[in-house]
This record gives sequence, C-alpha cells and structure tokens, in this order.
Amino acid sequence: MAATIIDGKAVAARVRADVAQDVAEFLAETGTQPGLATVLVGEDAASAVYVGGKQKACAEVGIRGFDHRLPADTSREDLLALIDTLNADAAVSGILCQLPLPGHLDGVEVTNRIDARKDVDGLTIASAGRLALGMAGLVPCTPAGVMLLLAEAGVEPQGKEAVIVGRSNLFGKPMAQLLLAANATVTICHSRTSDLGEVCRRADILIAAVGVAHLVKGDWVKPGATVIDVGMNRLESGLTGDVDFAAASETAAAITPVPGGVGPMTIACLLRNTLTAARLSA
Ligand code: NAP
Repeated sequence: MAATIIDGKAVAARVRADVAQDVAEFLAETGTQPGLATVLVGEDAASAVYVGGKQKACAEVGIRGFDHRLPADTSREDLLALIDTLNADAAVSGILCQLPLPGHLDGVEVTNRIDARKDVDGLTIASAGRLALGMAGLVPCTPAGVMLLLAEAGVEPQGKEAVIVGRSNLFGKPMAQLLLAANATVTICHSRTSDLGEVCRRADILIAAVGVAHLVKGDWVKPGATVIDVGMNRLESGLTGDVDFAAASETAAAITPVPGGVGPMTIACLLRNTLTAARLSA
C-alpha cells in the first residue's frame, strides 16, 4: 500500500500563520516587536539566498529584520564586536550567524558568542547543553520541525524504535535528544555504522540526514514505519532526498517528500524560536 505523504509545506504554512498571530498578540501586550538579526559574512550565493529567505519570512509574520552583511575579509574582532552589540540590543530578540564563515573565521567561536537567550538556531554550547540536560531552551530549527511533522502524522514517539542516520551537531544529535525526551528508543547511525540497512530495518521512525542521494533503500524500511527525509541533494534532475522515495513509499505508512517535507519547517521553526526568544527577554 502506498504511504501517506506528510505535507511539510502545509504544516509550515500553519506554523507561520500561528506565529504571525502570536507576534501580533505579543506586540499588543508588551509594545515590543520581536526582532531577528541575521549576520552574513562574504558573498556565498547559497548563503545569501538562505538569509534573504529568512528575512522575507520575518517580514511576513511581523518580526522586525536586521540584515547585517559584512565583507568576506571582516576581521574576527569586528565580527565578535557586532555579535556583542546585537547581544546588548533590546530590539534584537534573536541572532543567527549564517554558516559556513570564510576560512579565517571560526564558526564555533562566533556562534558561541551569541547570548543563549538569543540563540534562535539553538547551536551554542549552552543551548546544546540545556537540551541534553532536559532543560527549557531554544532548540535547533530542523529537528524541532521534524517533531512537529511527527505530531502531524499522528506518530507518538513513546516506546518506538527511532533510527537517525547522521550525527551532525546541527541535526542528528539534537534530533536524538528530542526523540529521547519524547521517550523513544533512539539509535544514531553514521558513516562507520556496520550494516546500516539492518539497523534501519528496526526503525518505527526512520530519519535520514546524510547528504547522499537515495542512500536509504526501499528494503531498509520496516513495513508501517514513518520515514522522515531531511536530505537536500541537488542533482541535474532537481532537488532530491536521502531516501529512495518511490521504493520507500511502497513499504512505509507515512513519508516526507523532498522538496515539500522537512525543508519548509526549518524557517517556520526559526520564526517560532524568534518569538520564544522575545518572550524570554520580555
Ligand atoms: P553533515 O554535517 O555533513 O553530516 C552528515 C552525517 O551523515 C554524518 O554524521 C556522516 O557520518 C553521515 N554519513 C555520511 N555518509 C554516510 C553513509 N554513507 N552512511 C551513513 N552515514 C553517513 O550533514 P547535516 O548538516 O546533518 O545535513 C545532512 C543533510 O540534511 C544534508 O543533505 C543537508 O543539506 C540536509 N539538511 C536539510 C535541512 C533542511 O532544512 N531541510 C537542514 C539541515 C540539513 P560521520 O559523522 O561518520 O562523518
């Protein structure tokens, strides 16, 4: 039987509409408009498109945008000074520094300069630590979006076997923490995992975040599983995921498409995090 398609575009549109309403209420209650500062260093075309998309999305929900674009040869001192200024600026609720940075700058150092209360990407050591300790804080946007998609699909993680392929700090590790907090039994796989297919076949919830087109085969999917494809691979034929969608949707109960699955959730959750950050500073 063909799987149900989890429509991330529709869920993301709903999240954005909810954020727009909540931003309006927050403004009415506090007299403060939430603000998101984006920092882009250099002229990387893809990064410029991402930052432009984030700023546009902010404007659409009533979040004020602060769009800082710096030359590629910006010094470490100048960049850290800008982050310090944004940390101290009451009009700025959230800060994100678009990665990757030019080679002479250390992305980890710069990210960690962001005040944890304004860390809307959830990537500082403080945010990762809070998540690992089960404390409230700002959670990375893409894994937060996946949790919303699972809820949308009616999947209750408690007691389920969840397998995540990919162990990045950006996605795999925080995803594991969120599923663990939701009482799933979590396995994280990576490039050294022996017999990846066998591990994937155990999964009630199978999440692929690798960056290798169609790595996850149809026969790696347990019948009735929920499959979440985070991968974004640009091929000549267009954008495709890490899962062989056609084959996997024969066996899975529900599956996210690429595009139109996880992707739209990331910006929606960034907007939500910015509102959460504004509430934290209020
Ligand atoms: P990453 O930092 O490159 O991490 C990739 C992970 O995949 C690593 O843990 C790596 O293992 C593992 N891996 C690589 N080849 C493998 C193989 N053959 N078998 C098993 N595991 C393998 O990537 P990322 O930032 O997490 O992103 C992963 C994908 O998700 C990319 O396509 C990215 O574009 C996409 N993504 C999408 C969104 C969105 O908004 N939709 C957001 C974030 C990421 P090792 O650790 O052993 O090297």
